[in-house]
Parts: sequence; C-alpha cells; structure tokens
Amino acid sequence: MSRVSLSSYKRITVKIGSALLVDRAAGLKRDWLASLVADIAALRKSGTEVLVVSSGAIALGRTILGLGRRRLKLEESQAAAAAGQIALAHAWSEELARHSIKSGQVLVTLGDTEERRRYLNARATIGTLLKLGAVPVINENDTVATSEIRYGDNDRLAARVATMLGSDLLVLLSDVDGLYSAPPAEAADARFIAEVERITPEIEAMAGAAASELSRGGMRTKLDAGKIATNAGAAMIIAAGSREHPLAAIDAGERRTLFKPSPAPVSGYKTWIAGNLEPAGRLVIDDGALNALRQGKSLLAAGVRRVEGRFSRGDTVAVVGEDGIEAARGLVAYDAADAVRIAGLKSGDIEKVLGYEARSAMIHRDDLVMTACHGRTH
Ligand code: GLU
Repeated sequence: MSRVSLSSYKRITVKIGSALLVDRAAGLKRDWLASLVADIAALRKSGTEVLVVSSGAIALGRTILGLGRRRLKLEESQAAAAAGQIALAHAWSEELARHSIKSGQVLVTLGDTEERRRYLNARATIGTLLKLGAVPVINENDTVATSEIRYGDNDRLAARVATMLGSDLLVLLSDVDGLYSAPPAEAADARFIAEVERITPEIEAMAGAAASELSRGGMRTKLDAGKIATNAGAAMIIAAGSREHPLAAIDAGERRTLFKPSPAPVSGYKTWIAGNLEPAGRLVIDDGALNALRQGKSLLAAGVRRVEGRFSRGDTVAVVGEDGIEAARGLVAYDAADAVRIAGLKSGDIEKVLGYEARSAMIHRDDLVMTACHGRTH
C-alpha cells in the first residue's frame, strides 16, 4: 500500500460523519473534535487549504432536544437539525479559534450546487472564506430542505463541494475504515481494498447497502461521492475517523481506501456549459480578448464590444468574435443590463459605473468552454 501524504494536496475537503462527532448519551465528542482540528491546523501550516463538511446536526439536536432514539417525523428532524447545527457550528468555531483559525458556517441546499446562478454564489462565498484564511464549515441546510429536494447524505454533498471548489482530495471520515470486497458485517471473508484505480460496476457491487445507525450514507453513497470526485480529477480517501487525530493517522499509514483521480477528468460542469442549453445571449468580443481566451484566460469586460440578448447572471451566453463566429460559451457573471454598462471598461472603472466592487471577469475561465471547431482560421 503506497503512503499518502495529505500535505502534498493543495485543497482538501474533509467530510465528517455524524457517528464520529456525536455520542448518543454524552452529545458532542469535544476531545475528538479537538484532535481533528489539531490535524487541520497542522495541514494549514504546511500550506494545504481545508474545507470541512460536518454532519452531526440532527444527531446532536436529538440529544439536545431529548428526542431519544425513536424514528423522527420530518419536522422533528428539521427541528433537531436547527438545534444541533447551532451547537455544532459553535463547537467548530471554538476549536478552530484555539489555533487562531477563523471559520465560517455555510449551509447549502441541493439547489445551491445544481442551479447555475446559486452555484456561482455558493462557490464565490466559500472561495472567499478560503481566500480570507477561514475554514468553511459546511452542512446541508436540513431545517428547510424538503425530502424531495435534498441531498440527504453528506457524502455526495461533500463531493459536490469538493468539485465545486476544485479540491484535489476528498476525505470521507466515518465509522468504516474503507472499502471491502463485500460488506464486512455480512461476509466474514471480505477482503480489504486499499486502492481503487477506477470505480467500475464490480467495485460498486462490493458496496452493499449498509449504513451505520447514526448516519445516512452507507458505502453506496460513498462510492457515488467517489464517482463525482474522481471524474472531476480529485482523489478520494475513505478512512476510519473514530480514533483521535484521524488525519494524521492517514499520513502515518493507517488503513484506508484510496480512490485514484480519473487520468482524463471530464469536467461534467464544462460539458454542461457547452452543451444542453440555448445560450441566453451573446457577447461580441475583440481580437485581443479572443487571443486571451485561447490562452485559457478569463473574459474581461474590457474586451467586450457588444452585448446582445436578455440574460441574468449565471446564464449561459455565447462568446463570438467580431466576425460573428462563436468562439466560446460560458456562464456570465453579470445581468445583461450591467454587462451593457461595463462593456469595454477596464476593471478599475467598473466600480464607478456599477456602484459596487466588480467581480473581475465578465466570464471566469473556470466557467468558460472554447467551442470546438468554430471554423475560424488564424
Ligand atoms: N446533514 C445531516 C446532519 O448534519 C447529516 C447527513 C449525513 O449523515 O450524511 O445531521
């Protein structure tokens, strides 16, 4: 089994399962949390950014509200999430503060990662927290999400967050230490799988459906998370979190399953931008901007000659050269009315016109896909 060094990754998303953080009788496991936070602080010292996706709100809220072990009605689990989340966030911010690390709570719903406009906003907020040196502490907004439109498990949520923020590693800490050739509770001879090159149907068949008592996601949702992460070019690790210093334990060579990133990541996100939707408008750009795009740069307002169509921030627009030939598509960062006002302006002048500080690009390069074979010769 090859060693992994977590500090060799740039931006790690760590998902913590409820069973690790919450004890049914005693509530929040503070010492364990302190040990995990010490690991996070060490990673940050070595230059690795960390995002946390923390479960445990519902489990903790059950204890706080005295709901016992019985099955909860939807509104009861939502009330539990409300009571639990406030305590959970408090504990995270206190423990991180002991290491002089700032934190910010971000509660997301399914729509925040699946709808373009909200996706851009969520990504900008979390990205800004990281830029400001804070650890984003993320959970699903369980108090308002209704059952049809929620993730329901933080494994897949963490995978979406990881890909949204360009993490190169997703770590799922839970009460299982990795993938076995069959669910160990059902098969005594189950083999441990230390490394997974690719999540094939055979690998998926190993998952079974078991979930632990406190958490929702079993191995199945973990493999779903793995597909999301590895297809987007991130590695994923499943490791047991129940020991103290669970991240340091991975570095020390403790058992875990490593899922390798796909060697040819297809950005589902970019495929989604390029295909599917009819662009809601067009931006006609000058040759300088066109050359910049070809070098993988963002589209700045300065290079935009003309704005056509009625679109909103987050809509797909076509980017065309002065010859009218489509060169790219992307998610525009401004509503059409604002785009018209700032077209041709240098970044420094945009604030004067809009009255607020501009996002630097009309279309960020991460949100931009060059149109293949658009027929232009140069
Ligand atoms: N969002 C849920 C909570 O914080 C946890 C979901 C999960 O266990 O994956 O209680």
